[in-house]
Amino acid sequence: MRLKIVNVGDPVLRALAEPLTRDQLLSSSVQTMIDLMRETMRDAPGVGLAAPQIGEPMQLAVIEDKAEYQQSLSKSDLKERDRKEIPFHVIVNPMLELLGDPTEVFTEGCLSLPGFSALVPRSKQVRVLCLDHRGESRVIEASGWYARILQHEIDHLQGTLYIDRMQSRSFSSIENYNRYAKSSTAAGEDRRG
Ligand code: ZN
Repeated sequence: MRLKIVNVGDPVLRALAEPLTRDQLLSSSVQTMIDLMRETMRDAPGVGLAAPQIGEPMQLAVIEDKAEYQQSLSKSDLKERDRKEIPFHVIVNPMLELLGDPTEVFTEGCLSLPGFSALVPRSKQVRVLCLDHRGESRVIEASGWYARILQHEIDHLQGTLYIDRMQSRSFSSIENYNRYAKSSTAAGEDRRG
C-alpha cells in the first residue's frame, strides 16, 4: 500500500515535528507506519521520506539509496557526489551536527515538490545522534550524498524545505533541468527525498 505524499503548501510540512517516546516508536501503529513509509519511498522512488511528508508530524524519517538508483550516474558523477549505496534504515528524534560549512552544491529535489529541482548547498560531513527503528541509540557519521540526504530529511522534521536553502535562480522544472541545466555527463535527475 502506498501512502499519500503531501505537497508543499500543506501546513504539516512547515510544522516542528514531535519527538517520539520509545513506547510510541515500538507501538504497532508506528512500526506499521515505518513499513508503509518504506514501500511509499520505494514506489516513488526516493532516497528518503520524512513522516511529515505523509502528514504525520513525528520526528521520524526513512532513508535508502539503492545501487539501482545510481545506475544513470557516471562513475565520475558518483565520485564527485561521494554517493554510495545506503541500506534502508530509520532515524528517530535526530540531532544533527554539521561538520563544516555548506559548500557542496548539487541539484536536489523533494517528493513534496514533484517535478522541480534546484541547486542546494549542503555540508559535506555531518554527525547525527538518533534512535533506530527499535529505539536503540545510534551515532551516524556521514559524508557526501548520504550527508545531504540526512540534512534534507532532518530539515523536514524542523519544517524546512530545500527551497528555503536553494540557490533560487537555479529553481527549475525537472523537464527544463534535463533540457538546459544538466551537466554533459549527469544523466537524469538526482534522486529525491
Ligand atoms: Zn523532501
